[in-house]
Amino acid sequence: QAKQLGRNTHQFFASEMNVKLQERLSLENELRCALARNELQLHYQPRVETQSGRIVAVEALLRWHSPTRGWVSPGTFIPIAEDSGLILSLGTWILKTACRQNRLWQEAGLPPIRMAVNLSVHQLRQDNFGALVGDILAETQLDAASLELEVTESLMMDNMQQSIDTLQALGDRGITLALDDFGTGYSSLSYLRRFPIDTLKIDQSFVQNVLSDVGDAAITKTIIALAQNLQLNITAEGVETQEQFEFIKSQGCDEVQGFYFSRPILADHLTDLLQNGANLSKQSAPMS
Ligand code: C2E
Ligand code: MG
Ligand code: MG
Ligand code: MG
Repeated sequence: QAKQLGRNTHQFFASEMNVKLQERLSLENELRCALARNELQLHYQPRVETQSGRIVAVEALLRWHSPTRGWVSPGTFIPIAEDSGLILSLGTWILKTACRQNRLWQEAGLPPIRMAVNLSVHQLRQDNFGALVGDILAETQLDAASLELEVTESLMMDNMQQSIDTLQALGDRGITLALDDFGTGYSSLSYLRRFPIDTLKIDQSFVQNVLSDVGDAAITKTIIALAQNLQLNITAEGVETQEQFEFIKSQGCDEVQGFYFSRPILADHLTDLLQNGANLSKQSAPMS
């Protein structure tokens, strides 16, 4: 009886795993086609200078609209792209598209902004990633100072020295480097000193609770003070309300990003915002 039950349970798990595996494989194939068929797009979310309300940067965020599935979230498909190796060609496409877009804005005479692009660990580990980025900048004619690369702490944990060397090479080219989702990873403060980064981005999970959770408020204040003491630029992400913004601003945070100012939007929409003075200081109601 027990043996019978054991076998059934085993079969149940086996078939459930099969379904998951098949779903993954099919998503992977669809993603491959999507890249070839141009179904992927970048949306851009403004990053605003706290004091002036000016848009000083945008973050490129990947979007996939599948003809059969509708919108698929990057949280779903990025890990699949990473596991399958597709992230390398995808990552190159993202970098090129984002750099080209920033160059187009510059050519149109719009106020200069940095283009922030998220990197996956696999990209950072590619041989000669620094040279690849250099080639993309040359091809798109974008200056290095107009590109910012975002990496996460967890991304750098194994093979730390190699990651640091690659980041150093990118920084030496004049590219700005940001540590994304700060506070959620595992790295110690001594590691933080070794990362050749320019910017810390406080994770949105802290920012969203600054008014309701004294612990998250304390962490947010401490991270801002830490960045200031280390002379790093500091950005808060996930700012959704005016109250959150005022709290962040009162702590002296340099830049903010979040739905309060703008959701990630299409390039054309951002062109309009930049044309209208690129000023999102909020006297008026937030856009959505
Ligand atoms: P991330 O780099 O930390 O990006 C910020 C995420 O927070 C984005 O989600 C953005 O839409 C969302 N967000 C911004 N402001 C707010 C806000 O006020 N409230 C809330 N609730 N959310 C806000 P998204 O676009 O779904 O991206 C999720 C993650 O997927 C990103 O986190 C990043 O890790 C990854 N990702 C997105 N695009 C790319 C890409 O091009 N390459 C790589 N390697 N990863 C990417
Ligand atoms: Mg990011
Ligand atoms: Mg530097
Ligand atoms: Mg983040």
